[in-house]
Amino acid sequence: MDKKQKCKIDVVSDGIVASYVLDILGKKQEDDRKRTGVHVSDLIFPRKAWYSLKYPQTPTDEECLYFMIGRAHHGIMESLIATEQFREVEVKWNGITGTIDCLVGSDGLVPVECKTTRSATMYNVNTLPMHYLRQLGMYVAMLRPDDKEGYGTLLILYLSIRDREADGRWHFAPLLQSYTVHFRNLDAIRGSMIFRKAMLEAPIPPPLDTCEAWLCRSCRYYSRGRKNSEYCEGHR
Ligand code: SF4
Repeated sequence: MDKKQKCKIDVVSDGIVASYVLDILGKKQEDDRKRTGVHVSDLIFPRKAWYSLKYPQTPTDEECLYFMIGRAHHGIMESLIATEQFREVEVKWNGITGTIDCLVGSDGLVPVECKTTRSATMYNVNTLPMHYLRQLGMYVAMLRPDDKEGYGTLLILYLSIRDREADGRWHFAPLLQSYTVHFRNLDAIRGSMIFRKAMLEAPIPPPLDTCEAWLCRSCRYYSRGRKNSEYCEGHR
C-alpha cells in the first residue's frame, strides 16, 4: 500500500465467528459427555463424576474455552513426542477405558501424560498435584496388568509462571517441566480403580474426600449451603 494513501478501516464487533466456535466446542463437549462406560478421568474425582453423570449439564462458554485451550496445547505437545499411532491411545482394563496422551519407550508401554496449568508457581517432586500422579499411575497399571511396578512421564506446561527478577519486578513466562514417576505398587492402584469404579456406579454419591477441597470453588454441583439441594454439600 502506498504510504501516502489514506487507509480507511471500519471495524464492527459482531461476534459471529466467536459464537460459531463456541457452538462447535459446546457440541464437541456434549459428545464427549455422552460417551459410555467408566473412564479413567471419571475415577480421578469420582464424587464430582458421579454428580455429573446423575445431573448432566450443558457446558458453559468458560468451560468450552478452557477445553479448547487444553486441547490446543495437548495437540502440539503430543505431536512432538509421538507418531500418530502412539497418540491418544485407548486402553481397556476391567471395564475401565483410558485414553493415554502418548506412548513411548522401547516396548511402547511408557505413558506420557501432558498437563497444562495456570498455576503461577512451579511444582517440584514434593508438591506435584496428587491427581496428576493418580491419573498417570492408573495408565501405568492398565498398561502393565501383570506387573507390580512401572513408570511413566509427566509433562507439565505452565502457561504463565511468576518469577521475581533481580530488580525486584515480577516477570511472567511459560515454562515446561517433565518428571519420571515410578509406581512401586501397581496392585494397590488397580485395587483403588476397582473400588472407585464401584463408587461411581453406586446409587449414592461417593464419600466427600474423593474430591479435593480446591475443586469445590469451580464445581457446578456445589450446593453452596442451600438446604435440601440435590447437589453436593462440598468441603466447607
Ligand atoms: S462440590 Fe466439591 S466435593 Fe462436591 S462434587 Fe463438587 S468438587 Fe466434589
